Amino acid sequence: MNPLYDQLTAAGRPDAPFLERSDGRIDTYADLQAHTARLAHALAALGVQPGDRVAAQVEKTPENLYLYLACVRAGAVFLPLNTAYTLAELSYFIEDAEPALIVCDPAVLEGVGGLASKVGAKVATLDAQGQGSLTDLAAGQSADFATVERASSDLAAICYTSGTTGRSKGAMLTQGNLASNAATLTKLWRFTARDVLIHALPIYHVHGLFVATNVVLTAGASMIFRAKFDAAEALTLFPRASALMGVPTFYTRLLAQPGLDRAAVAGMRLFISGSAPLLAETHRDWSARTGTAILERYGMTETGMNSSNPYDGERVAGTVGPPLPDVALRIADPETGVPLAQGEIGMIEVRGPNVFAGYWRMPEKTAAEFRADGSFITGDLGMIDAAGYVSIVGRGKDLIISGGFNVYPKEVEAELDAIPGVVESAVIGLPHADFGEGVTAVIATGGSTTLTEAGVLAALQERLAKFKQPKRVLFVDDLPRNAMGKVQKALLRQTHAGLYSQS
Ligand code: ATP
Ligand code: MG
Repeated sequence: MNPLYDQLTAAGRPDAPFLERSDGRIDTYADLQAHTARLAHALAALGVQPGDRVAAQVEKTPENLYLYLACVRAGAVFLPLNTAYTLAELSYFIEDAEPALIVCDPAVLEGVGGLASKVGAKVATLDAQGQGSLTDLAAGQSADFATVERASSDLAAICYTSGTTGRSKGAMLTQGNLASNAATLTKLWRFTARDVLIHALPIYHVHGLFVATNVVLTAGASMIFRAKFDAAEALTLFPRASALMGVPTFYTRLLAQPGLDRAAVAGMRLFISGSAPLLAETHRDWSARTGTAILERYGMTETGMNSSNPYDGERVAGTVGPPLPDVALRIADPETGVPLAQGEIGMIEVRGPNVFAGYWRMPEKTAAEFRADGSFITGDLGMIDAAGYVSIVGRGKDLIISGGFNVYPKEVEAELDAIPGVVESAVIGLPHADFGEGVTAVIATGGSTTLTEAGVLAALQERLAKFKQPKRVLFVDDLPRNAMGKVQKALLRQTHAGLYSQS
């Protein structure tokens, strides 16, 4: 038994389509079995043993996806790495994870080879006819492979968190974590073999790799597989697809397409957004244009998915819906972990079969992030309303306490973003002698210079209570982002730490 692989391949009929490549070729479920068998043999030929880590920093291709599934079959631990990481960044992950094999793109083979030798790892590429090509090695192998036996508690993957709040941590995900989350979502979102998902998310992150892929596989459905999201192309795919999973920028880009209307989405039954907050405004604009409501969901590397707006019933803008049926989600006092009353803002804590096995080689950090009852302290602040819907208020680390008052940056950012000329904003707390932390607005203007500090502050006068109003406004061309595209508030806090002490 291999709980994850068994589940992922139980529904797909051998002759049914699994994946449409960008050149139009179709891989069936039988092709998937054959590709993953050959790759699993190739992994074994390179000395990869069950339990070994296999790191992959590879462009998004079907072969990259098959490598993940081959690792599951071989009992190896898949370790996806963002292709945006530089060699210097990569060295941290490689030294931390000590993989037995690193699979990379040909362009970086030499540099990665240097890192690999430090930890005694082998290196391979995925391109056919490439130097050290895993694909070439796989080509000569049998299309039958006896999938390695695993227990639910065995690791299937180590995924590094996005590094938004600090250094990335390796979240250890078990076969059971991934299988249970995929089974829950398949049911909740009503995926069947008839579904066709537009898969345009990266596969170095849990969202595209696990949520999207595993749901399609669990249902025996198929996907239109694209290396990148292209809004204009997506419109042409909608007539033969049924679902799209994306991040909020997919939807803002689609809204910028003049052709987006009710007729354009007529055949689509499901639009899902996650990984970052979907602005209520985007949700409403989308509904007005298409007559459909985006289903927003909430999750993280460590837990897969925690909550989702319902398939039936109201999808409320600005909420991430009720907790999943098998996830115990509570709002607790951040210090004590004592549950708070309904409607109060506190730390989101989750417990369930989706919750990871801990951070790789960080026993103390792991211990600090769990309550005694096994609840994981997510680091996100939120609240639950009377209908049971969860709202994300922001990251605990981003909460500003100014003069003893809690200021939630998201609320101030929403007001700033409404000011003409503001492309986007980040509100942070900086050390301040009188207030403890001074509310500070960092505004991205995209290079335009019409805004002034006094003008911005005046615009907020009537809109926010005095204690929430920024003490200072800083202008930048763009906000700093990490490789996942998330705004790096920790970096902003560091850069401007001395703002209120200079004078
Ligand atoms: P790190 O843990 O390294 O600081 P990260 O938390 O950004 O990085 P991920 O696991 O990729 O790494 O992101 C999960 C986080 O993304 C969640 O904890 C939450 O803050 C945010 N998030 C995910 N979905 C939503 C959503 N629908 N609305 C608001 N925030 C969301
Ligand atoms: Mg996190």
